[in-house]
Amino acid sequence: MYSNVVMGMNSSLLEIELEDLKDARGAKQDTDLKAEDLKKLCDSFKNKIFESTGKRFPTDAVQQLQGAISAVFESWNTPRAITYRKLNEIPDSWGTAVNVQAMVFGNRGEDSATGVAFTRDPSTGEKKFFGEFLINAQGEDVVAGIRTPQPITKVDAEKMAADGAPRLQSLEEAMPAAYKQLVEIYTKLEKHYRDMQDIEFTIEQNKLWMLQTRTGKRTAEAAVRIAIEMLGEKLISEEEALLRVDPYALDQLLHPTLDHNAKKTLLAKGLPASPGAAFGQIVFNPEDAEKFHEDGKKCILVRTETSPEDIHGMVVARGILTTRGGMTSHAAVVARGMGKCCVAGCGDVDVDYSREEMKVHGHTLKKGDSITLDGGTGEVFLGEVKTVEPKLSESFESLMKLADKHRKLGVLTNADTPKDAATARRFGAEGIGLCRTEHMFFDSDRIDAVREMIVAENKEDREKALKKLLPMQRGDFVQLFEEMAGLPVVIRLLDPPLHEFLPQTDADIKSLSAKLGIDFGRLKNKVKSLHEMNPMLGHRGCRLAITFPEIYNMQTRAIAEAVVEVMKRKKDQVVPEIMIPLVATYKELALLRQQAEAEIAQVQKETGVKFNYKIGTMIELPRAAVTADEIARVADFFSFGTNDLTQTTMGLSRDDAGRFLSSYVSLGLFDKDPFVTIDQKGVGHLVKLAVDLGRKSKSDLKVGVCGEHGGDPASVEFFHRAGLDYVSCSPFRIPIARLAAAQAAVKKT
Ligand code: PEP
Ligand code: MG
Repeated sequence: MYSNVVMGMNSSLLEIELEDLKDARGAKQDTDLKAEDLKKLCDSFKNKIFESTGKRFPTDAVQQLQGAISAVFESWNTPRAITYRKLNEIPDSWGTAVNVQAMVFGNRGEDSATGVAFTRDPSTGEKKFFGEFLINAQGEDVVAGIRTPQPITKVDAEKMAADGAPRLQSLEEAMPAAYKQLVEIYTKLEKHYRDMQDIEFTIEQNKLWMLQTRTGKRTAEAAVRIAIEMLGEKLISEEEALLRVDPYALDQLLHPTLDHNAKKTLLAKGLPASPGAAFGQIVFNPEDAEKFHEDGKKCILVRTETSPEDIHGMVVARGILTTRGGMTSHAAVVARGMGKCCVAGCGDVDVDYSREEMKVHGHTLKKGDSITLDGGTGEVFLGEVKTVEPKLSESFESLMKLADKHRKLGVLTNADTPKDAATARRFGAEGIGLCRTEHMFFDSDRIDAVREMIVAENKEDREKALKKLLPMQRGDFVQLFEEMAGLPVVIRLLDPPLHEFLPQTDADIKSLSAKLGIDFGRLKNKVKSLHEMNPMLGHRGCRLAITFPEIYNMQTRAIAEAVVEVMKRKKDQVVPEIMIPLVATYKELALLRQQAEAEIAQVQKETGVKFNYKIGTMIELPRAAVTADEIARVADFFSFGTNDLTQTTMGLSRDDAGRFLSSYVSLGLFDKDPFVTIDQKGVGHLVKLAVDLGRKSKSDLKVGVCGEHGGDPASVEFFHRAGLDYVSCSPFRIPIARLAAAQAAVKKT
């Protein structure tokens, strides 16, 4: 280890020496070697180190210590430390410290041992002492997987045997006195630190030594359960329980797991090291994982064991499979921290790096072949296995309830279909904050009517096409209102430039010309004439309705008629909120508001049903933000379209900027991708300004956000501080936003 960490040598050269010697002596384990053998091995190690590094291995203790201390300081700037900091948002400027401890020896004979343990189960959060140890071994041996580690408790040893593994002796049975003392110490440590601890210990000739304790990494499932149970145990407060769970990590709990009824071919079973299910093509090294990822392919990283050098591959892989190592191995711990599925110590799999293949029970799988991992059971399957929606635990529901009790922000969803709306409600959405009506236009059975409307040469033809669309849109809105049962529903009128709906290839134009009975050449010219050089800044949003008022009139009528239908049928109150996009001046909104109100009045007159409604706008252009006081006078609500507001404030195309934004982030020019986390100083400044100006004109103005930032925890915290009433985000982000909003409310800044 010293030759590797301090002297920079590839230590596998020494591993080969050790393996060769073991073979020569017929020894299975390193502990089977004799003292004489080890002595010889030391000499040959020293020679190899000299050959490889040109430096003599230091034999002076002070010199060794200095070398080790320097290596720790230097480790701060290794690529793997830099990657780790980037992943965990640790500033480079923090630097590192060095602890110097006296050495104790777990490899001093059969009455010595070393182990790693957690005060609660880091995978499930269950309150039970959990860990692994090895007799006659030293620190790294447990995590490096040189021998199969033994469980700490008798219960676990029995459980593993019941699952078909060999019955191993537990620490509780092998060294009862040390075990008893360890239990007392871990209980004290957890109470003292008021969090789950990850501890390392060594037993030297029956005497227990504690080497380290730190807050343990855990899966999202475990984080939620531990926070809620520690709150129940009165170990922590409600506020602390909320802050204990990383909102980003909740994502892990909301995604599918393997369908237990699906057909599957079991290849092998390893340890369930980190839960979740993952399917992908096999790769055998981190570089290939990165290549597959760049090509848009899902991959599973298969290694005999992982080391910190593999981090960049682990980050991009969908799952990790190792053939050696236990539940506390590098792969297991790192995968759990990343929320990534991992099966560890799958001994039946034989990996051949040089041939880029793995053999398992008669199957030979090559790089690029597919497997599926179940990190919850440790099973490895051939090919792709179907997945099912996750069930949310009681602890999760308790955490969400707790979040709702503390948060000030409302949490709504962006949903265009009843299915999305239902999912969002299941996750706790309090309404729809953005229904993008154009998504309803793309359905295969209505796109032709939309196209007919767009290519119409005059108002009359356009109205004829719109009449076909009206009942379809009305049906959509009825379903949405019914699904949301009286909760707010914000419907945005048509936003994208018209040419997005038109056919592009000659073949498609030909087929449309036949359907609509329009001459091919004329239709082609029409399509060409609608093309824009810069459509994002072109004829879109409310500008469409300025030139073609019939479009918004049809949509407004569809909304109003849907309200009437639902109110008649269900006797529920429905208060629709109509949202006009891409407004730059209050005059646009005033004009379109007038038209919408006239259409609603007409429907109310025709049906004799009166209802309340709101008409508001998106704030997604800088001009709208800085003139928000004027706009507020004609708006019932604002919703920040931070996708477009980021695009227009920073002059960054939301469609193309991805190509260079990562360079900006890695050079530190931007802290984060501004389309993911709001740029607080620039775009955020405009948001704050618009909230203040808007409320100055209209003190009860409702203000929310419906850009992607509404589901990003760091941005949610900003919106809380900026005084917004709600955030709206995609269905799967709802729990994340609920927790992030609660954290923003309880954080003392
Ligand atoms: C926005 O611009 O933030 C927004 C929500 O609208 P869209 O993404 O549909 O342009
Ligand atoms: Mg927009």
